[in-house]
Amino acid sequence: MRLHDKKALITGASRGIGKAITDRFIAEGAEIWGIGTKEPEGLAEWIAETKGRLHWVCADLGDLEQVEALVEGLIKESGAFDILVNNAGITRDNLSFRMNLADFQKVIDVNMVSPFIIARTVGRAMIRQRRGSIINMASVVGIHGNGGQANYAAAKAGVIAFTKSLAQEAASRGVRVNAIAPGFISTDMTKAMTGEAKEKTLSLIPLKRMGTPDDIAAAALFLASDESEYITGQVIPVDGGMFM
Ligand code: NAP
Repeated sequence: MRLHDKKALITGASRGIGKAITDRFIAEGAEIWGIGTKEPEGLAEWIAETKGRLHWVCADLGDLEQVEALVEGLIKESGAFDILVNNAGITRDNLSFRMNLADFQKVIDVNMVSPFIIARTVGRAMIRQRRGSIINMASVVGIHGNGGQANYAAAKAGVIAFTKSLAQEAASRGVRVNAIAPGFISTDMTKAMTGEAKEKTLSLIPLKRMGTPDDIAAAALFLASDESEYITGQVIPVDGGMFM
């Protein structure tokens, strides 16, 4: 039980990477407050399986005016979070020359501004308790860029930059802040990729397979647990060796 009695807030917990992290953390003894835009299918059964250690919260994290008050409420409700996983994310892909500003701004709001508001709100409370681990979900495209994803790449680059800045501000108060940069992971987000684009991306992965949500959950567990207590301000790529 590597997260025995720890309390974690996980955004985007309904599907894909966020669900895998939620299930893994619960298996390791944590109590989770999970956020999604709506109740996922089979929520009652899922909560029953966790013996009530999953609390579900419906919220649109793109509604920036509401985010801070929502998170303040959850901090009060939980008593205190030991772990935050800022994982919710969206794509609105297009070539830069065709991308409308609304799609650029929406991706920046959901993928970068909202995680920043959540991280500083939870981070303030963690600083008061002199402990905590914040994990932000970035992406390899936030480091290397990606044609057709200027909005998403810019948001993820911003996540990496605020991760390092927040880590510098919070380290002396016992709070660690790190990011994970997943590569090409099999979830709803990558399902829409065509066969040809998929093959091309796969050919760039030395480990010769797409990643799974569980691959990312394993890295998140390490960063959440005390096993990583001497690691802060880092971006850990989990990408099958796509970028070395
Ligand atoms: P996904 O399967 O599409 O799931 C996205 C999650 O985010 C869902 O739980 C969704 O909730 C939630 N979400 C989206 N917009 C939201 C909003 N406005 N308010 C609240 N929740 C919202 O995505 P994924 O592939 O698991 O990705 C998870 C994270 O990893 C994202 O930050 C993504 O950018 C990053 N990532 C993924 C890959 C990849 O290859 N899949 C690669 C690099 C980075 P609902 O179910 O309610 O819609």
